[in-house]
Amino acid sequence: MSRAASWLLILPTWIDIDVKTCGSAAVAGLASSLKPRYHFSALQGENYERLPYRNHVVLQENAQHVSRFIALASVGNPAKKKYIYAFSIVPLSRMEAAELVKQPLDVTENPYRKSGREAKKSLGAKAAEEEEPAQQFFFDLNKQQGKKRHSDGKAGHQTKQPRKPPQPTGPCWFCLASPEVEKHLVVSIGEHCYVALAKGGLTSDHVLILPIGHYQAVVDLSSEVVDECEKYKASLKKFYKSKGKRFVMFERNYRSQHLQLQVVPLPLSCCTTDDIKESFIVQAQEQNIELLEIPEHTDIKQIVQPGTPYFYVELDNGEKLFHRIKKNFPLQFGREVLASEAILNIPTRADWKACKLDPDEEGSQAKAFRRDFEPFDFSSQD
Ligand SMILES: [Zn+2]
Repeated sequence: MSRAASWLLILPTWIDIDVKTCGSAAVAGLASSLKPRYHFSALQGENYERLPYRNHVVLQENAQHVSRFIALASVGNPAKKKYIYAFSIVPLSRMEAAELVKQPLDVTENPYRKSGREAKKSLGAKAAEEEEPAQQFFFDLNKQQGKKRHSDGKAGHQTKQPRKPPQPTGPCWFCLASPEVEKHLVVSIGEHCYVALAKGGLTSDHVLILPIGHYQAVVDLSSEVVDECEKYKASLKKFYKSKGKRFVMFERNYRSQHLQLQVVPLPLSCCTTDDIKESFIVQAQEQNIELLEIPEHTDIKQIVQPGTPYFYVELDNGEKLFHRIKKNFPLQFGREVLASEAILNIPTRADWKACKLDPDEEGSQAKAFRRDFEPFDFSSQD
């Protein structure tokens, strides 16, 4: 019982509460499932306002409103501790979704979701031993988390095993072995990946890194395919640098069958990496797209499960901005931002169909790219 309370409370030293005897597992369960915006309670005659806590797992679940736990002292207590809380509240139904899910700066993780191990750490192992019954209550929550972890682990395990690439269900423009692929656009072929000029590219040296086999997204790739993508990225980075350019990469795993890592070089003189990042963030905001900065060295695989639609941008310093797609994501978003006034200022080229060349021109562009890229191409070094 007391475990529920001790996890919920972040007690300042001046509040003297016996955490072993306060709290109710039933109420904790209710609060955890109902996710109230405000949770009022008594607390051994004390007044206590906990920092607001999140009701969603960052980057894994849609943002939700926060909960605030407020304990009020006994009415008319001699120490004059606060026992009345006056506030005005706008009903959920009348609030804008964006306003409702806004996270305050001091928001904390959800106290009801802590894993058993973390809880032990914060409580001290001794206290944990003494409070066996409380563990029972959290067992269910842990079980859910445990299940999730298990499935994560399984996915991770799968990636280590060599898998045969899945077969496309219909014609695919990007499977290298497919008759539909436009071979004249291909500029380099590795063991698992290849590079091709983008059809109707934003610029003449806009390329795609693609898996040779039929994979839908980066999160579906096995580690050796990912490694080769990284090698291509490094080769392209050096190549573009020699041309006085930096690149921006993006992937849209939404309404697309075969993974395409779009690599668009931009002149160094046109904008800094920070300018590019800023433009993505600002233009996403304008379209109500929540672009989240993800911690450095974080794999997209660590954030989404295979099968989840998403969009992400990777800047040339390795920083990534990520959006989990729910619905109606603008298909040309990445291009639109790069073509916008803030960056390349070629808005009419945002749509690839407006930039299509005839096959001869495509062929000679690819030939020129191949020739210039070769000295930098890791796949032609051995
Ligand atoms: Zn394919």
